[in-house]
Amino acid sequence: MSDAINRMETIRAVAEWHENGEVPHEPVKPESIQSVFGRDVFSERVMRERLPKDVFRSVLRTIRLGDPLDPSVADTVANAMKDWAIENGATHYTHWFQPLTGSTAEKHDSFISPDGHGGIVTEFSGDALVQGEPDASSFPSGGVRATFEARGYTAWDPTSPVFLIRGTNSVTLCIPTAFVSYTGEALDKKVPLLRSMDAVSAQAMRILRLFGTDKGVSRVFTTCGAEQEYFLIDRRFFVTRPDLLLCNRTLFGSKPPKDQQLEDHYFGSVPDRVLSYMAECEKELYALGVPIKTRHNEVAPAQFEVAPVFENANVAADHQQLVMQVLRKVAPKFGLQCLLHEKPFAGVNGSGKHNNWSMATDTGVNLLDPREETHTNMQFMVFLTAVIRAVDLHADIIRASVAHAGNDHRLGANEAPPAIISIFLGDMLQDIVEQIEKGAIKSTMKGGKLDLGAASLPQLPRHTGDRNRTSPFAFTGNKFEFRAVGSSQSIAWPNVVLNTIVAESLDYIATELEAAVGKSPTEEKLKNAVAKLLQRIIKEHKRVIFNGDGYDIAWHKEAEKRGLPNFKDSVSAFSALKTKKAFDLFRKYKVLNKVEVESRHHIYLEQYIKVVTIEARTALSMAKTLILPAALRHQTELAEAVAATQAADIDCGSLRDELEDFAELSAKFRETIGTVEKALADLHHKDEQAHAEQLRDLVLPRMLDLRELGDELERHVANDLWPLPTYREMLFVR
Ligand code: ADP
Ligand code: MG
Repeated sequence: MSDAINRMETIRAVAEWHENGEVPHEPVKPESIQSVFGRDVFSERVMRERLPKDVFRSVLRTIRLGDPLDPSVADTVANAMKDWAIENGATHYTHWFQPLTGSTAEKHDSFISPDGHGGIVTEFSGDALVQGEPDASSFPSGGVRATFEARGYTAWDPTSPVFLIRGTNSVTLCIPTAFVSYTGEALDKKVPLLRSMDAVSAQAMRILRLFGTDKGVSRVFTTCGAEQEYFLIDRRFFVTRPDLLLCNRTLFGSKPPKDQQLEDHYFGSVPDRVLSYMAECEKELYALGVPIKTRHNEVAPAQFEVAPVFENANVAADHQQLVMQVLRKVAPKFGLQCLLHEKPFAGVNGSGKHNNWSMATDTGVNLLDPREETHTNMQFMVFLTAVIRAVDLHADIIRASVAHAGNDHRLGANEAPPAIISIFLGDMLQDIVEQIEKGAIKSTMKGGKLDLGAASLPQLPRHTGDRNRTSPFAFTGNKFEFRAVGSSQSIAWPNVVLNTIVAESLDYIATELEAAVGKSPTEEKLKNAVAKLLQRIIKEHKRVIFNGDGYDIAWHKEAEKRGLPNFKDSVSAFSALKTKKAFDLFRKYKVLNKVEVESRHHIYLEQYIKVVTIEARTALSMAKTLILPAALRHQTELAEAVAATQAADIDCGSLRDELEDFAELSAKFRETIGTVEKALADLHHKDEQAHAEQLRDLVLPRMLDLRELGDELERHVANDLWPLPTYREMLFVR
């Protein structure tokens, strides 16, 4: 069967699916959400039921206050956990961790041990809960460890809930863990995240103490809610595209006559098959205790979004990994494939992950909530100014935190958001910041009411500022939204960076204020000191604030004038992780030592090299074994048509022209295959930096040439000879 026939079969099958209108799964109802939520989580509720009171209280202190875990309770907790897991069908447990590859890793161990008398017993000790010892040698360590020194440890993170993963015929108890080397260096994304949250807490508490708002507060957390964008295509298309299969993005593909220009997809009604898929994902995520809140169509055809309610950033980061895992896992049950890549389709909107971020006390106060009379809320202004200062001082590290090969197709290309890191504040805060700069803070701008002009419609309270979709770092009411994070990326590392740079600014501000007013100042004295300090900080760092259109080319020029960095691609962005400034920052707040920062730089560079190399090889193989043969077949048909027309004694001038043009195009395509091959073979580099630069400068542009010619061929080759599912089919057959 030819590939073209395969494609037609798929289109027919999708049509049939809609005709039959079957939802192949249990319908999701409000009461089923109620009963399923948290079902597969060893939650505080379950612990309260199953643990002796004193043990429960001890674990709770660790979860809530970050106190070290009392080793004497570990056995009791492990036993209760095992009983609960086995009652729920689990046979195995695993230490679930997040190596620097960006995905998650697990090695399963059975609860079962031989009892020495021909039978078995189930076992799970406190030691097995608290510590694991996976072979670390096959995970990237960035030079922290040589392969022969394989020892690595996983350590239970009691602050993120233990959960069950259900497979088709298996249930596994998953224990969120940190992953470190024998020498104690962090080999994962969780250890620095927890350390950075400690850093924020310590510094933020100093500010609260100055304002006398620390009563009853033991900790400050960072909070995070990540909106996840993704594409869904029919799985049968996916498996016949080597580029999607191996690289998660298309390396060839001509834009269809229609893409997103009618803007009819965004917030449109969700196609039935997709909606059933979403409901099923939500059900699985509810069982895992992930509080999914919103779902909708996104801008591009076949693009969608899902977002949870925000949580403590550590739990949010673990839950975000589960969101990606479930999105991928559930799709095939509906004949779909979920694409999390930042740019699966060239020329069509890419996917990001909006990382909503704030700070809150453990008593539930959001420290970035400006409240009604913002100008009287000095403490808010301090936290706001700390973020502004942090983002300006460390824009380079923030940019580096979202750098990877996939995100290069989004950032810096002509779509949201640009690679220049700037902050959007909106009218009300912009006004406040200008008042701070003038040194006299008097009023809060009000949004007023919006009259809709029809008696039956309600009057709406209006926000004090419009939204800005183009800013990479936008204040959105009571939190910041960091929009440059890539859709396939773990949110842990960007949050490590945010937390650490903000901790530094809070430290700076607390130190200045404490010096100016002493530890328990009068209100008046504090007010004056804050006003003076914030005025100076705003003056120094206001260049990072930009409320205009981030896509506008004029902004790029303006940003350059302001001296804001603009790292257009990952390879140059990574350099921010090799500076003394970065080493000092991470070391000072005990988030990462120099070796740990260097190892991350090394690993991210290495990943870039691997990704681009795999893409180049895949493009070559598709060009040689799929596209060129199709082109030659088409050429033969054309040649036969010319010969037959001539034989029939009919003028075939224009047909002959077409054959000649086509032959020229396919010859050029063949030549360009050679150019890409040569570019790849000719790389000569003394180190990884040079290797990555050459891939960026010499190989990627040649791949683009090859793609352009391939796409031109697609526009000419007979549809029944074309071997790949087209953009039209993948994006519009749902
Ligand atoms: P939009 O698409 O308009 O940005 P969404 O409702 O899709 O809004 O997503 C907003 C996200 O921000 C949600 O995940 C929400 O829980 C999260 N969020 C709200 N408040 C906070 C906060 N204080 N800290 C962190 N995240 C927050
Ligand atoms: Mg958003």
